[in-house]
Amino acid sequence: MNFSDKEFFPPRRKARPVKVGRLTIGGDAPIVVQSMTKTDTRDVEKTVEQIQQMEAAGCEIVRLAVPDLEAAQVLPEIRKRCPESILVSDIHFQYKFALMALDAGIDKLRINPGNIGEAEKVRTVVRRAQEQKVPIRIGVNAGSLERRLLEKYGYPTPEAMVESALYHICILEDLGFTDTIISLKASNVKLTVAAYRLLAKQVDYPFHLGITEAGTQFSGTVKSCVGMGLLLGEGIGDTIRVSLATDPVEEVRVAYEMLKALELRSRGPVVIACPTCGRLEVDLFKIAGEIEQATAHIKTPLTLAVMGCAVNGPGEAREADLGVAAGRGNGMIYREGKAIRRVKEEEIVSALLEEVERFVADRAAGVNTAPKELAPEPGGRQKPLVTLQ
Ligand code: SF4
Repeated sequence: MNFSDKEFFPPRRKARPVKVGRLTIGGDAPIVVQSMTKTDTRDVEKTVEQIQQMEAAGCEIVRLAVPDLEAAQVLPEIRKRCPESILVSDIHFQYKFALMALDAGIDKLRINPGNIGEAEKVRTVVRRAQEQKVPIRIGVNAGSLERRLLEKYGYPTPEAMVESALYHICILEDLGFTDTIISLKASNVKLTVAAYRLLAKQVDYPFHLGITEAGTQFSGTVKSCVGMGLLLGEGIGDTIRVSLATDPVEEVRVAYEMLKALELRSRGPVVIACPTCGRLEVDLFKIAGEIEQATAHIKTPLTLAVMGCAVNGPGEAREADLGVAAGRGNGMIYREGKAIRRVKEEEIVSALLEEVERFVADRAAGVNTAPKELAPEPGGRQKPLVTLQ
């Protein structure tokens, strides 16, 4: 970023660091990306396959629903098949499943202590988690608030959600347990944002952000980015999960795009593509789509501009690590501010991908093999790709 963002964005909220497996959530640790499997946990094959797909997309923590005994019983096998994965068991009410998850070597429990039942059961789970250094996420959900709170507040409010969180936090603190992470999720963006803001003033536990049941891939992405974007922009949030009614790999991709947009994490390309307009003279949607798809696996951070004409194209393409400014069946390829190749429209994708490969290899080797800038046309400037009337 070229300007001082400190003037515009508040500093990150200071949350106590909590270890989850080899990762840290809170403190100065990067915002962690997590998601949840959507397979039937009892189907070990499919669940393991989905965990691997999510991790390939960059998912750092994977949560698994443990709705019944059979799901709890397969956790050791999933653990064995995914020894390096950071796994969270999502459990409601059943303290025995929590103990089975701890036995299986799970890295984090998502369970609300107030819902476990008798004090002795709570104590048993919390003591075991403490012994194994397994943190607990308290997950308050506006859709399942305690009845007494709904009676008190009439409907889910930020205050009701915070009161619920504090109730569960107190249970853990009374048992001397502080490796706690909190989430306060609602499907309503304003309710979610208000609840996190309110609790942020009262505790220093790290926050897991999410807009729950956000919606379909399109609407849920918008809602998630607005809600979590607001909070992250205020410095609130230590780990995020995007909830979409689609493949969890998409949730992970959206999470990274959000963090990249806020410059909180970097991973792979940031694709800058012009929206196109009446000046466009190449099939930019196709070119941008193919480039985005072909570079999705790349982890090296880079900016990649795909621009449709010579009006804004060269400027954006020069600013990016790599870019193309297209026009009249041609494309000028740029690398790190230099125009390096002029190619035909049908060669734009392959030429840009070649340059991406070279750039990534250079970054890995710590060298720079960028070709020299094309010689300027007579007159001292690169010949424009299109002549503006
Ligand atoms: S770069 Fe050119 S084609 Fe793309 S939106 Fe801007 S003016 Fe239109």
